[in-house]
Amino acid sequence: MLLLKIQKLGVIFMMSFLFGLFSCSEEEKVEYRSFDEYPVYSHNDLWTSYTSKSTTFRIWSPTADDIRLNIYSHGHGENLLESYPMKREPKGIWRLKLKGDYKNKYYTFEVSIDGKSLGETPGIYAQAVGVNGKRAMVIDMQNTNPEGWEDTPRPVQKSYNDIILYELHVRDMSIHASSGIKNKGKYLGLVECGTLNNSGYSTGIDHMKELGITHVHLLPVFDYHTVDETQLEKPQFNWGYDPHNYNVPEGSYSTDPYNAQVRIKEFKEMVKKLHENKIRVIMDVVYNHTFYTEKSNFNREVPGYYYRQTETGEWSNASGCGNETASERPMMRKFIIESCKYWATEYKIDGFRFDLMGIHDIETLNLLRAELKTIDSGILIYGEGWTGGSSPLPDSVRALKENAKKLDDIALFSDDIRDAIKGSVFESKSRGFASGKPGNEETIKFGVVASTNHPQIDYSKANYSKIPWAEKPSQTIGYVSCHDNNTLFDKLMISCPDFPIEDIKKMHKLANAIVLTSQSIPFLHAGVEMMRTKGGEHNSYNMPDDINQIDWSWKTQNNDIFQYYKGLISLRKNHPAFHMPSQEMIAKHLQFMEVNKPNVVAFSINDNANGDSWKNIIVVYNSMEEGYVLKLPEGEWQVAVRDSWIVEDGMEGVSKTVMVPPLSMMVLFQK
Ligand code: CA
Repeated sequence: MLLLKIQKLGVIFMMSFLFGLFSCSEEEKVEYRSFDEYPVYSHNDLWTSYTSKSTTFRIWSPTADDIRLNIYSHGHGENLLESYPMKREPKGIWRLKLKGDYKNKYYTFEVSIDGKSLGETPGIYAQAVGVNGKRAMVIDMQNTNPEGWEDTPRPVQKSYNDIILYELHVRDMSIHASSGIKNKGKYLGLVECGTLNNSGYSTGIDHMKELGITHVHLLPVFDYHTVDETQLEKPQFNWGYDPHNYNVPEGSYSTDPYNAQVRIKEFKEMVKKLHENKIRVIMDVVYNHTFYTEKSNFNREVPGYYYRQTETGEWSNASGCGNETASERPMMRKFIIESCKYWATEYKIDGFRFDLMGIHDIETLNLLRAELKTIDSGILIYGEGWTGGSSPLPDSVRALKENAKKLDDIALFSDDIRDAIKGSVFESKSRGFASGKPGNEETIKFGVVASTNHPQIDYSKANYSKIPWAEKPSQTIGYVSCHDNNTLFDKLMISCPDFPIEDIKKMHKLANAIVLTSQSIPFLHAGVEMMRTKGGEHNSYNMPDDINQIDWSWKTQNNDIFQYYKGLISLRKNHPAFHMPSQEMIAKHLQFMEVNKPNVVAFSINDNANGDSWKNIIVVYNSMEEGYVLKLPEGEWQVAVRDSWIVEDGMEGVSKTVMVPPLSMMVLFQK
């Protein structure tokens, strides 16, 4: 065995030697004083290009002394087949063209500087990887398309204002026994049709269709680090905010993470089925940091370049995860833009949610925005307009919420409305408007108009932002809960310990009634429509399934809640007055009504706003523990929503005054 290995290494050495002998004169290495001097490579051919006759490998690494390309038969284990030196070319590029058919062969790059290897990397532009993402695979992407892929277009998206987001984790949706889903925890499980819980209620994709959401937002589904793909027989869980390979689907959600093609095919199958069912697909992207720092693929290719540093030369840490990337540097900017374009075209992804978007520079996001519009004008970009720590890049050029107006058609999460409705996420016992705390009314109004400018709002009384930060309503993501922090139900249980469960349920409904009747893009945390609980855990990123999973028996137990959420979504979709496209239209048609009590907000939307079939609409949020008598404008009004009931055609006529029940929303209309 040992002899065989020595012989094999000898062959590799000979091949490398001969290759070196016949290669032409190489570019000379250049010394650079700063990252600013590094050459910029503008072509988009850093992706390994395969044909049956040859494969061309490229890598950008201006400071390397030597780079080798290693070819393996498998994605893991000791099976090195060949190893070649790459050739330095202008602009920091190293290239190698191998003749012959290298399809399905695995490979790594190995950069050396000053005689020291930085370790193997699959390359940051890897499109396919083996188990745990250590080696890339030469792939013919045409072979990865499921049947009918080309004939299944993304559903049409006319306006961002029509979107209703549903944020889910692939594993959570199917892993519980009650899901009735076969491919538990897998991409394929998310799109199994006809699945039911024990009481015969739909689960999985049928549930999403029944609820009526327009977009699924998938928590990280690119290849992340923490879940060991070689140990899938053991239950493991992670949200996935620990990036490893940005351009490859995560392996643990596939049925075979060892074969690089399988995860790609199954991911596409998932997208295809969602698209067939008129659901668009959004990826949560985490370009702001990587799991590893010194050992990351970025640092194994060009040490230091892709990350920001402090004045003293340490890794800066605006992510709170040990490093932050440097989107303002041209080759990182190029990487983010090409990566998103790749997902949008190769996988037909319909939108991107940027984790800690406030770390990235505005220019990169605006360039990305323009590029994605050329692929499909409906592709949505949104993100968190904040960071997890301070950054050396000035605030004025980063995609922070306060800079929203400098971002073109990019939406940001409204922590203003989130915390005004239910209390701060940082203080578990704090309460908000829906849980009866007075003083949040002005922020609720701020949320209703989607953070735009409205003449009736006193912005100085808002909780966080004191300015109307959004230029148009589709720039605001309205929400009350997401994967982070407590679920809405847990938050209400923790902050309102003295209230009976019936009141908690009413608060729960009121909270998202506000979100779903506000002008922002509504965002729902999957399972909230069945009062999802995580047992009071707020940071469940690596907790077991029994904390994170969706127990589909909740749909039976809390079917009244589900029916209410479903009814609200239907109401919103049928009435464009609830999603007007411009600040001007909102200011013209939406008027806040005078109320004489705290914990009440009322407004009317008048004159067939945005082409609505209803002439005039009144919406009242009452979070008092008693009823509120609202004085109505002239004429008879039909009640469409009262307490738990939603009857879009109207359940009864009222005039002069109406009693709005405690802890509830009421909607009335005139035709
Ligand atoms: Ca992985």
